[in-house]
Amino acid sequence: MGLLIYLDGQLLPEDQARVSVFDHGFLYGDGVFEGLRSYDGRIFCLEEHLRRLYFSAKAIMLEIPLSLEALRKAIIETVRANKLRDSYIRVVVTRGVGDLGLDPRKCPRPTVIIIASRIQLYPESHYQKGLKVVTVATRRNLHESLNPAIKSLNYLNNILAKIEANLAGADEGLILNQAGYVSECTGENIFVLHSGILSTPPVSAGVLAGVTRNVVMGIATGLGLEVRERNLTRHDLYVADECFLTGTAAEIVPVTSLDGRVIGSGLPGKITKEISEFFRQKAFSEGTPVYNGK
Ligand code: PMP
Repeated sequence: MGLLIYLDGQLLPEDQARVSVFDHGFLYGDGVFEGLRSYDGRIFCLEEHLRRLYFSAKAIMLEIPLSLEALRKAIIETVRANKLRDSYIRVVVTRGVGDLGLDPRKCPRPTVIIIASRIQLYPESHYQKGLKVVTVATRRNLHESLNPAIKSLNYLNNILAKIEANLAGADEGLILNQAGYVSECTGENIFVLHSGILSTPPVSAGVLAGVTRNVVMGIATGLGLEVRERNLTRHDLYVADECFLTGTAAEIVPVTSLDGRVIGSGLPGKITKEISEFFRQKAFSEGTPVYNGK
């Protein structure tokens, strides 16, 4: 059975959910998006994702044609209509239909799409063995050009990095910013542990303010670790005791090699595992219920 897709206020069967070829999301990547997840009937960090979506839209001067309350309701209804308990939810707001020019003033109405689908998990071996990561040559967008803090539909910077990682036979690509500091991987934030101190690049290094990143910083602080947001070099990663990536889809995934250097013991680290365990507990026990309190 196909999915029911939310498109501009209607829930439509997936083969009828169609967007115009004149939509500027399609023509120019002009729009914003979010990726959320539900665990056993509860949407995890719904408010945080909504906030980031509205901030991304604000930054590109795109007015989402629904109030935050209405969009929250539409997301919950879309998950419910698809009878999903464990799901991956994609919310997309584009500039809408315009002409073939760039000018957003020609796009009177933004397009709003919500897709609630089954979760595509990464292979279990990624979590058991850890990822093999390589540094890619593609640098992160400058924040004064296309700020990586905006979750925009324009992901070509990340896709070029992913292509390089694929060509190198790696699981992920590490992207440096223009100053040569570590930013993030193609769709995940990065953390490193040195002697009980957990570090992650600051948002100003050209990273998305990941929702999972934020949750992990909270968990780590609760575990008594010192958590720092600071600029990191590749060297800091090579000599780390542990390293992991965070993201809504990936959750927490260990990194055991970078540019051919083995990280730590070469196996997923103890603290990484501990944080992952706390994260899963939190994901399954918190969140906004989709099915009337259950
Ligand atoms: N960085 C980038 C570039 C991303 O696209 C994402 C989301 N997939 C993340 C980091 C992780 O963010 P979050 O934890 O909010 O999913």
